[in-house]
Amino acid sequence: AMNRARSAQLYEEALQHIVGGVNSPSRSFKAVGGGAPVFMERANGAYFWDVDGNRYIDYLAAYGPIITGHAHPHITEAIIRAATNGTLYGTPTELEIKLARMLKEAIPSMDKVRFVNSGTEAVMSTIRVARAYTKRSKIIKFAGCYHGHSDLVLVAAGSGPSTLGIPDSAGIPTSIAHEVITVPFNDIDALRAALERWGDDTAAVMVEPIVGNFGMVMPKPGFLEALCKVTREFGALVIYDEVISAFRFHYGSTQTYHAFPDQAAVEPDLTALGKIIGGGLPIGAYGGRKIIMEQVAPLGPAYQAGTMAGNPASISAGIACLEVLSAPGVYEEMERLAIRLADGFNEAAARHGVPMTINRIRGAFSTHFCDHPITNYEEAQQTDSEQFARFFRGLLEEGICIAPSKYEAWFLTTAHTDADVDATIAAADRALKGI
Ligand code: PMP
Repeated sequence: AMNRARSAQLYEEALQHIVGGVNSPSRSFKAVGGGAPVFMERANGAYFWDVDGNRYIDYLAAYGPIITGHAHPHITEAIIRAATNGTLYGTPTELEIKLARMLKEAIPSMDKVRFVNSGTEAVMSTIRVARAYTKRSKIIKFAGCYHGHSDLVLVAAGSGPSTLGIPDSAGIPTSIAHEVITVPFNDIDALRAALERWGDDTAAVMVEPIVGNFGMVMPKPGFLEALCKVTREFGALVIYDEVISAFRFHYGSTQTYHAFPDQAAVEPDLTALGKIIGGGLPIGAYGGRKIIMEQVAPLGPAYQAGTMAGNPASISAGIACLEVLSAPGVYEEMERLAIRLADGFNEAAARHGVPMTINRIRGAFSTHFCDHPITNYEEAQQTDSEQFARFFRGLLEEGICIAPSKYEAWFLTTAHTDADVDATIAAADRALKGI
């Protein structure tokens, strides 16, 4: 077995000082058999090195942001430049205009943008703005979608909360939970029924238009189009949480993704962003139609602010990351490698008689221990957690790093190579044999 003595030791120490030893619960190994998570020391390109000197191929990509691989020279240079010029001003800068322009060009529904510090903040702010604009209070969300850790959206939340068995978090007042209605993803009849009942009080329908938090799940053909249409029939706003999906599958958002030929039919009113747009530094952003965004202070009465918002380091890293991603062929190459992995895993699973299904969208995919593709949260919950845990452990022993959760995805980056893929397929073959 791999020597991870130092990780185990650091974990014991961390437990003394940091709640659960981790600063985000999704990093804990609780759902995959417990014990010490791996403490990483350094990362470069597609690789991690842990504190015991073991090397791993990284498909976690920090839960999404690291799409160009670790310490990409173009991004590193941008961060050094920003740090040299001072990390935080508390004044506007020209850099912010540049990144806002880049986002607007790629995401046509965003007339006006505001930068914040995380995906959580971005989502939280879209809800405030939607409520201010519609003067209504309720939000409809989809079971298993994860929208960060603000009160309103920690109901039937996928990702980390589901992994740890707490999709409905404690600490949320009943009065607030009553403002949220949850319906199954990909079920337009359920959404329509909810709107018929609560539509007059509904400020917005919040959705991950392409889901990344109970596996990688595409909306069924026509679902998003119908969602936008029926939501507007009831005078509510459509909010896309694209924290994980924007710039993931192509240079842009769901609205401009080729799977949705009628762009106007899938255009949201508000969009929340994060992850990739910060190039690995903390960031979030939200935006949408001008008339709606004008609710936000200083123009309007909806208050939203941030000491760190739009800081030159995050903005510079974000610009550099988008520059890397705008090169031709980048997404095609990540997809090519993801297809190779998926094919290799499928063959190995079949060889070992393990029922496994891969939900793949371009360069990202999720592995589910069941015999059918995942289309909603309930199906994802029912997959075999024990087999996933053994797969995860087997991969880790082989030096392959993925998220310790059956709900999370594998992410290809621009740094992965065919050699990495070959090694990963061989590792997965051995891991699948053992489960
Ligand atoms: N929305 C979605 C779709 C996400 O995937 C995440 C993070 N996984 C968030 C919101 C929250 O972002 P953050 O962790 O930056 O607060």
